[in-house]
Amino acid sequence: MKWPGFMAGEVLRHVSQKPTTVLYPFEKVEMPEAFRGKIRFLAERCVGCKLCQKDCPSGALTIDKVGDKRFEAVFQLDRCIYCAQCVDSCNKDAIESTPEFELATLDRSTLRVVFHAPEPPPGPAEPEPPAAAKPSATVP
Ligand code: SF4
Ligand code: SF4
Repeated sequence: MKWPGFMAGEVLRHVSQKPTTVLYPFEKVEMPEAFRGKIRFLAERCVGCKLCQKDCPSGALTIDKVGDKRFEAVFQLDRCIYCAQCVDSCNKDAIESTPEFELATLDRSTLRVVFHAPEPPPGPAEPEPPAAAKPSATVP
């Protein structure tokens, strides 16, 4: 059993300290670097292996091929548990965790987030039409 005097000392020590909480949402703290918040997909890095999709424990993520070497991702943020397993599974660094965590909404449909594939590269330039044939000089 602790001495009452010890408890009083603890109370006094905490009274003189700054609070460890902030007045959220009016005050915000910076999230630590390794924080696992909203997921971001970098489509230009994706090779479509679908490892992230297979490893996601909550079925919150699908990768779809939408063109030649072009993939888009659909995240169901209302299913996501922010475990960042998809980030670890991707060996192309095509998925990242962000510090964003304020995702509460009254409209659940907004939690379906589609990251579109980049635009396809422009095709080969159209060949120039042949120059109009010059009229040949006529010999009188
Ligand atoms: S693991 Fe990475 S490269 Fe593979 S499909 Fe997922 S995001 Fe794309
Ligand atoms: S963070 Fe976890 S739950 Fe969310 S999409 Fe990635 S693997 Fe799935």
